[in-house]
Amino acid sequence: MSHETFDVAIVGAGIVGLAHALAAARRGQSVVVIDRDQNANGASIRNFGFVTVTGQEQGAVWRRARRARDIWAEIAGPAGIAIEQRGLVLVAQRPEARDVCEAFLATDMAEGCRWLDAPAARVRLGAVRPARLEGALESAIELRVESRSAIPALASWLASEHGVTFQRGVAVRGVATGRLDTSAGAVSARSIIVCPGDDLATLFPEALSGVTRSKLQMLRLAAPGFRLPAAIMSDLGLTRYLGYAALPEAAALHARLEAEQPAHLANGVHLIVTQSADGSLIVGDSHHYARTPDPFASEAVDQLILDEFAAVFGAVPPVIERWTGTYASAAAHSLVTAPAKRVRLVVVTSGTGASTAFGLAEEVIAELFSDSEDPRQ
Ligand SMILES: Cc1cc2nc3c(=O)[nH]c(=O)nc-3n(C[C@H](O)[C@H](O)[C@H](O)COP(=O)(O)OP(=O)(O)OC[C@H]3O[C@@H](n4cnc5c(N)ncnc54)[C@H](O)[C@@H]3O)c2cc1C
Repeated sequence: MSHETFDVAIVGAGIVGLAHALAAARRGQSVVVIDRDQNANGASIRNFGFVTVTGQEQGAVWRRARRARDIWAEIAGPAGIAIEQRGLVLVAQRPEARDVCEAFLATDMAEGCRWLDAPAARVRLGAVRPARLEGALESAIELRVESRSAIPALASWLASEHGVTFQRGVAVRGVATGRLDTSAGAVSARSIIVCPGDDLATLFPEALSGVTRSKLQMLRLAAPGFRLPAAIMSDLGLTRYLGYAALPEAAALHARLEAEQPAHLANGVHLIVTQSADGSLIVGDSHHYARTPDPFASEAVDQLILDEFAAVFGAVPPVIERWTGTYASAAAHSLVTAPAKRVRLVVVTSGTGASTAFGLAEEVIAELFSDSEDPRQ
């Protein structure tokens, strides 16, 4: 069977694959993206669409997130992706949380952030009425997109504007230098980037043996009748996001949360609330780790998430949708390996792909095309 040869083939049409498609296409490469699903169905459409810089791990991850945020802002208009929300208000419910926020504001990651004391935070929060309020960390940097429409829009724009070819409903069964073996026949490409999300079993499983998966529970609540001022988080987030959690001041907060909210910590529950164009709220989440997580959404875990929502918002609107999602998880932010010549395996292993993939992809593509070897040979 004759088949086309591409400069770059990408396995996986989640945000990590699409980010690599953009970075490669911007270098003038012909690109094909191959995905076994007919429509985006993985972590990339199940998330909050919350592009978070504030709180990302200090150093390379924070810089990647900063760059990724700027790329989202740059392409959103041309790609027809609405920026649904801007900014973050992290509600500090306890004095220990205020200490973490103040320590964070003294770091070089605090660009675009400021502290609001309790009266100023109440004004900023409007109809959001936390039971306990020491103040709030406010950031102007964050963006929020509606992932379930933004990811398809991004793929359409890559096809129409950058000439990227998509092969959907096609499973990739094997990859070697220059060649992919797929359920629709062979595909040739000079460079191949495998972005399989949390499929740890199909391609290069030996390179993914140290990776597990995290299962998250998510809810959508009916529109509360007001607009949020920004994405909302609470104390629990300060012990999960490494940009805060790695600060020495986080230890005292963690100890207090262990005493006051042990079930939340045991189930990896923290609070993120974002708002869609129709006013409804996306609320999450929890974290349970296993190579093969069970598919069941526990009502007890949903109630922990809703408890924290109630502590920050007061009234809880009706739940109108529930779902679970999974992502690849390991100690490091991401795994990037070269399992064969001109082949890269790229997995974001920290649940931050919406926030960092565009930055990571630029690094991977720059490294791939900085080889002394001309990739076109
Ligand atoms: C509930 C939830 C909430 C989250 N919230 C946030 C957030 O607010 N902010 C943030 O930054 N991140 C968030 N994340 C993390 C983020 O969504 C992920 O890091 C990111 O989506 C991973 O992107 P991906 O492209 O690697 O994976 P995916 O979106 O899962 O895409 C992988 C694709 O690869 C395809 N594939 C795999 N193997 C093959 C094969 N052999 N052949 C063909 N196709 C293949 C799959 O079909 C799939 O479409 C969240 C994740 C979840 C689950």
